[in-house]
Amino acid sequence: MQFNWGKRKPHCHIRGPFCHREAETRDRAIDELLEFIWNLRENGVSDVADLQREASDPEARNILSYMEQEGLFAREGDKVYLREKGEEKAREIIRRHRLTERLLMEIFELSEEEAEKEACKLEHILSPEVTDSVCTFLGHPPVCPHGKPIPPGKCCTAPEKSVKPLVMPLNDLDPGAEGRIVFISTNFPARLDKLSALGVAPGSIIKVRQKKPSPIIQVGETTVAVDPEIIHDIYVKAV
Ligand SMILES: [Zn+2]
Ligand SMILES: [Zn+2]
Ligand SMILES: [Zn+2]
Repeated sequence: MQFNWGKRKPHCHIRGPFCHREAETRDRAIDELLEFIWNLRENGVSDVADLQREASDPEARNILSYMEQEGLFAREGDKVYLREKGEEKAREIIRRHRLTERLLMEIFELSEEEAEKEACKLEHILSPEVTDSVCTFLGHPPVCPHGKPIPPGKCCTAPEKSVKPLVMPLNDLDPGAEGRIVFISTNFPARLDKLSALGVAPGSIIKVRQKKPSPIIQVGETTVAVDPEIIHDIYVKAV
């Protein structure tokens, strides 16, 4: 089967799946289309026309009708939306895709292009258990390397201890030990701006000089006292 991918730059987060080479089976094609609908919605569109363009050859059209019959998605006027069953499935695929991106880019240091390619293969085959282990290993990251939200899994609300996380809150690092910042998750973006001006950003090497009474962090030559929540919001990989 062939989807009509046009001349679009292949990036599954911007315009939809580009995992077309992997989409040999119907199941994979369904996954890709669900991913596409999810990404459309994230980009604030959800037009039937976009979906039809995406699946423009007869075989892809058949798959779309099948998906509609199966209750994965529905249309309302010129908009498409995921139905409960499709929503759940799409959520899982997106979660696997984005977690794999993090794993491959940040832990295995693959290039963005390689990571995308591999993520598109793995998103179809990772079991829920492995996915949750990857999530735990990565410290339950809220976003992918492109900043897109990773739908949380069971592991994120009821963390299990069997996997030792490789990425952890700065608070879990021993004072004086160095970590490389993997991501920062904060409800206070203004605070983040201030910190990034000091060099506290993904990729930087950071350490906590002291945790109590109030935390002092060090990035390069800069030492700064921060609010206690901050060291829970900065996620690092020990180096
Ligand atoms: Zn994909
Ligand atoms: Zn991404
Ligand atoms: Zn998790």
